[in-house]
Amino acid sequence: MAQSRRAVVIGGGIGGLTAAVALHRRGRHVTVLERAPSLEPVGAAISLAPNSLRALDVIGLGDTIRDLAAWAGDGGLRTPGGRWLSRSSADAAAERFGGPLVLLHRATLIEHLAAQLPPDAVRTACAAALADRGGIDRPARVSTPDGELEADLVVGADGIRSAVRRALFPGHPGAVYSGFTTWRIVIPVPGVEFASHETWGRAASGAPTRSRTAASTPTPPP
Ligand SMILES: Cc1cc2nc3c(=O)[nH]c(=O)nc-3n(C[C@H](O)[C@H](O)[C@H](O)COP(=O)(O)OP(=O)(O)OC[C@H]3O[C@@H](n4cnc5c(N)ncnc54)[C@H](O)[C@@H]3O)c2cc1C
Repeated sequence: MAQSRRAVVIGGGIGGLTAAVALHRRGRHVTVLERAPSLEPVGAAISLAPNSLRALDVIGLGDTIRDLAAWAGDGGLRTPGGRWLSRSSADAAAERFGGPLVLLHRATLIEHLAAQLPPDAVRTACAAALADRGGIDRPARVSTPDGELEADLVVGADGIRSAVRRALFPGHPGAVYSGFTTWRIVIPVPGVEFASHETWGRAASGAPTRSRTAASTPTPPP
């Protein structure tokens, strides 16, 4: 009955991989289907709030990820001219929410999540679609370029424009673009005292922008 214990996760982002690790730890045979050619590094930094770290605690990764934090200090929001709009205190946040904000490379998080899964659990270059949601008398079916997979559980983790969500909830309006553009980069430690912050303001085109200057990679000594 191995087939009936199979879980298929559509989407190998943070949500899909986390769900897959949790299911694997509960003894499910898990297959993650990711349409990208590989789980190669995407994005820059990600800041993990205490609630997401508690979720990582559940799958046994919380402390490992906390130890990888590139930064865990005070921060805030600034105008493009540098004026502080608001300041945030790491200690106050930790006291209120039960832990600090942890900032690390997104690719590092993905790497650690994927490492918790059996080597053959993630199939890349594999765009998938929910073919049949299944029912009490039949498994769900997921179509892939290599044929169909049956599963007793399908997790739709295919991101903000989720096709799985559209299939299951056709009346859902989906995400609406709010007009904000975010630039996020990873820079070396500047070598001077540096207060981590986000800068909020209007771009040259008049569109509102939001940027974060927070992640920094320690520069190795010469
Ligand atoms: C610029 C930016 C900065 C952000 N910063 C933060 C932050 O600091 N902290 C924070 O908590 N959150 C942050 N977020 C939000 C965070 O990135 C998302 O909440 C998170 O990535 C959602 O994870 P997910 O796995 O649900 O979706 P995604 O990360 O979007 O992953 C979905 C995956 O599904 C795959 N996929 C899609 N369709 C298919 C298909 N048909 N078949 C197979 N695979 C498919 C995609 O290729 C993708 O890999 C940020 C978002 C952006 C855009």
